[in-house]
Amino acid sequence: MVRTLAESIRGIGSSTEEESCEPASDMDPKKSIKEKSITCLECGKSFKILTKKHLILHDLDAAAYREKWGMKKNTPLVCKALQRERRKKMKSMALWEKRRKPAE
Ligand SMILES: [Zn+2]
Repeated sequence: MVRTLAESIRGIGSSTEEESCEPASDMDPKKSIKEKSITCLECGKSFKILTKKHLILHDLDAAAYREKWGMKKNTPLVCKALQRERRKKMKSMALWEKRRKPAE
């Protein structure tokens, strides 16, 4: 008796938790990456960068996330504006790396 009650209370608790993190299932994965934001297809929240830390909350990593949502392997999980910035930085980074390596 008592056990059944406890179980049903636990059931109520977990069902409300599930409600708060509905998947944004009607979202097109390709449209999730916008100029100034990337939307997490798991929870529908918007970010500038979809971080590993966040994906771990969904039990995923970047590779698993891309696979799950049918994205190409090399799709960067950052908004478009940052993708462009990164590309610019990569060039200067490459020069910086060359200078840094001998010191290691
Ligand atoms: Zn999320």
